[in-house]
Amino acid sequence: RAKELGGRRVEIFATHMHASVLQRLELASDLQRAVAEKQFTIEYQPVVDLETCNVTAVEALVRWWRGSTFVPPEKFLGIAEETGVIVSLSEWILREACREVVAWRESGWDIGLSVNLSARQINDPRFVEKVAGALEESGLPPGALTLEVVEEMLVAGADETMKKLAELRSLGVRLAIDDFGTGYASLASLRQIPVDMIKIDPSFVSGLGRDETLTLLTRTIVRLGHDLGLVVVAEGIERPEQLELLREMGCPRGQGYLVSRPMAARRVDSLRRIGLQSTA
Ligand code: C2E
Ligand code: MG
Ligand code: MG
Ligand code: MG
Repeated sequence: RAKELGGRRVEIFATHMHASVLQRLELASDLQRAVAEKQFTIEYQPVVDLETCNVTAVEALVRWWRGSTFVPPEKFLGIAEETGVIVSLSEWILREACREVVAWRESGWDIGLSVNLSARQINDPRFVEKVAGALEESGLPPGALTLEVVEEMLVAGADETMKKLAELRSLGVRLAIDDFGTGYASLASLRQIPVDMIKIDPSFVSGLGRDETLTLLTRTIVRLGHDLGLVVVAEGIERPEQLELLREMGCPRGQGYLVSRPMAARRVDSLRRIGLQSTA
């Protein structure tokens, strides 16, 4: 009887595994096709000066509509990374975002662009060349582009990564550490490579005014960034109380649903005229 039950358990397990493996395979092949068929779009989330609410930059965020179903980045970026599709997808995102931001800048609007990097993208032997190419082709000044990396990409030993990022930085491109404070080497990562910006993870910002420790940690990161001469961006601002506290802490920049959700390119243009003052 026990054997019988055990056998069934194995069978049930196998069925589950089968389903998830199939799902992943399907997603992987759909992704391949999606890249070829350009099913991706980019949304832009404004990054603002917290004092004035002026938009200083936009962060490019990839969007995938698989038929009529929206697939969030967290659901497909891992698979795209595993299969390598991320390399061509990232290349498209970078070039497309540079092109769109240049069009907005041409009307005299001085905004920057932030783009998230993936590990596999940096490992591409032609990575530096491709970034330089996207800048040249679009005419975006290197100083207007910030590349966001997470701490894990900067851990000791990733010498090749450091070399490439340093090379880009010497071209004038800026570097940001995204999700700052959530990795296991936040402080060490600041020593690994010269960065220009840290983005405080929403897990800290969410606790502002509600959790003493998280509030204290946020204040400490803001001060640390300031003392190191870095631009500090608070991510995930959703409540007016968080905005008030961040202003009081002297956090220079922020991003979050309270200020603006990510939006389609055609809507970004109108931001310039209406601004964001009304929301915050
Ligand atoms: P991230 O770079 O830290 O981007 C911020 C994420 O927080 C975005 O999620 C954004 O929509 C979301 N967000 C912004 N404000 C708020 C808020 O007030 N509340 C909440 N709850 N969320 C907020 P999204 O677009 O789903 O992207 C998730 C992650 O996927 C990104 O985190 C980034 O790591 C990755 N990602 C997105 N687009 C790209 C891309 O084009 N390339 C690469 N390599 N990674 C990307
Ligand atoms: Mg980011
Ligand atoms: Mg983040
Ligand atoms: Mg993230």
